[in-house]
Amino acid sequence: MTEAEKQDRGQLRVNEDECKGCGLCVEACPPKVIGLSERLNHYGYRTAAYAGAGCTGCGICFLACPEPGAITVFRLCDAVTAKVRGRVIQMQGAPR
Ligand code: SF4
Ligand code: SF4
Repeated sequence: MTEAEKQDRGQLRVNEDECKGCGLCVEACPPKVIGLSERLNHYGYRTAAYAGAGCTGCGICFLACPEPGAITVFRLCDAVTAKVRGRVIQMQGAPR
């Protein structure tokens, strides 16, 4: 599967003010979609940043991070991922 074909099932947000650039999330991420940015935060650390496509929303980076509030992971619901793929979905039984 090419980089362009990988679908995000999760979304990673890094609070650059809280990240200490330890790299634990980078090591822990199974699909290896986190890297350390070239930019420095106000502490002088290179902060974690999403570096690819294919986040699964597993939350392992969140669990690995020692800094409270540095990482938030959003798991994209099927409706969002389907929309991202450009598919029309039918919500069966959804209120009108
Ligand atoms: S949620 Fe999982 S796949 Fe996504 S960036 Fe974090 S560790 Fe990687
Ligand atoms: S584990 Fe947390 S503190 Fe360490 S680089 Fe990742 S986001 Fe930053």
